[in-house]
Amino acid sequence: MEEATLQLQLSFKEGKGHEVRRQRRVSGKDLELTNRAGRLCAELGLSLLAQKVGVRWNARMRSTAGRATWPDAVVELNPALQTISQDEIERTFLHELAHLVAYERAGRRRIRPHGPEWRRACCDLGIPGEKAGHTLPLPTRTIRRKWRYFCPGCWAVFDRVRRMRGTSACYSCCLKHNGGAYHERFRFVEKRIS
Ligand SMILES: [Zn+2]
Ligand SMILES: [Zn+2]
Repeated sequence: MEEATLQLQLSFKEGKGHEVRRQRRVSGKDLELTNRAGRLCAELGLSLLAQKVGVRWNARMRSTAGRATWPDAVVELNPALQTISQDEIERTFLHELAHLVAYERAGRRRIRPHGPEWRRACCDLGIPGEKAGHTLPLPTRTIRRKWRYFCPGCWAVFDRVRRMRGTSACYSCCLKHNGGAYHERFRFVEKRIS
């Protein structure tokens, strides 16, 4: 099984109360992005596509940032994007969605992947001038993760490229033993690994 477990974590910024941050899934459907894709397609008058479009994270992707599959109407995104920036997630998401929009509009007509139909879809989705190449700061091999965190309660481990800011505790342990509130006992322990 390649399915990774859902990592939930709490993030507490000093002086700003208790802010709960949910980390995204490593693999699997992204409901938020799927809903957004549906809304965007509906706004473009593509109601059939709006109903069937799906967005998912695929942890098996290495140097590919994103992928659009047709006629399945699936957009797949590389979870490594999450460690780059929100902008890169957004841009890749829209780039791939534009492929689906172009194919849906073309119907049975054959179109070039990054031809005029796709470029028009990019404009409609707010990324005019998007390039065909997925030029992202993704390394060709796996991203080197430098920081490892573990929960002293359940020993759940996860790695991050960037150091976590603020103080975070294991959500599942806080939920199980402290009613979901932050507890020092489940604060993630940080370790540099490379
Ligand atoms: Zn493309
Ligand atoms: Zn834990």
